[in-house]
Amino acid sequence: MDMGLIRQMLGLPELLDVPNALVIEPHPDDNEVGAGATVKLLTDRNIPVAYLTVTDGRLGSDDPGMTPEEMIRIRMGERQRVNQLLGVQNSYNLGFEDGGDWTESVLMQVLVPLIRQFRPALVMTVDPWTPYEAHPDHVKTGRAVASSLIYCSNGIYLKGQGEPWTVPQVAFYGSAYPNTYVDVTETWATKLEAMKTHTSQFDNADWDLFSGFLTAEAERLYREHLDAVQNGYAEAFKVLSTRQLHFFPEAYKS
Ligand SMILES: [Zn+2]
Repeated sequence: MDMGLIRQMLGLPELLDVPNALVIEPHPDDNEVGAGATVKLLTDRNIPVAYLTVTDGRLGSDDPGMTPEEMIRIRMGERQRVNQLLGVQNSYNLGFEDGGDWTESVLMQVLVPLIRQFRPALVMTVDPWTPYEAHPDHVKTGRAVASSLIYCSNGIYLKGQGEPWTVPQVAFYGSAYPNTYVDVTETWATKLEAMKTHTSQFDNADWDLFSGFLTAEAERLYREHLDAVQNGYAEAFKVLSTRQLHFFPEAYKS
């Protein structure tokens, strides 16, 4: 079934019409790569956006002389500067070890009480079901978020840790099966600036190539899905209602 029809049946608002959003990333830069321009559109509309970063980002350098402590410190600073640029007011790092052996189940124990506390109308995160996605932090984060959305409305699961809360819909970024395209033409430049403000990750010799690739992709998505005549940029998401996250084999097609 088409997501537009499901949206209509369940009375779900469009992505940019939600009252608030919680955006959950594996590492301190993924939200910008996957959804930075959409986040800026939301905050420009005075929609409160909160960030959760699962890991401390300690593996964010190939330099053997870099210490984990220094890398973590650098990336925390970058995260704060980017948040200011994008208008993200609340941002928390959960402190899981970047590349560590933590499990989805342990992450869920942390996420469910936090989601109940934030009471988001929309959760955005990385798509863990994109084929060939091999980064364990991305796979574990996306799956733990999706599983948490099933359990955070259950009054027995982690009883006493927050009031049960139903998140109506989830938007996965970095998805191989997108079904929703957001016109981000007016915030595309800010997304790129935000990414480059993660200096330790993107302000390097590869930036022109990488940003050029991302921009070409965003132009293609815009042309193919939003407007074949005008020029513009789009970010793509796999949006599902939470009901589609369990026993719904057709979800990947919707
Ligand atoms: Zn990442």
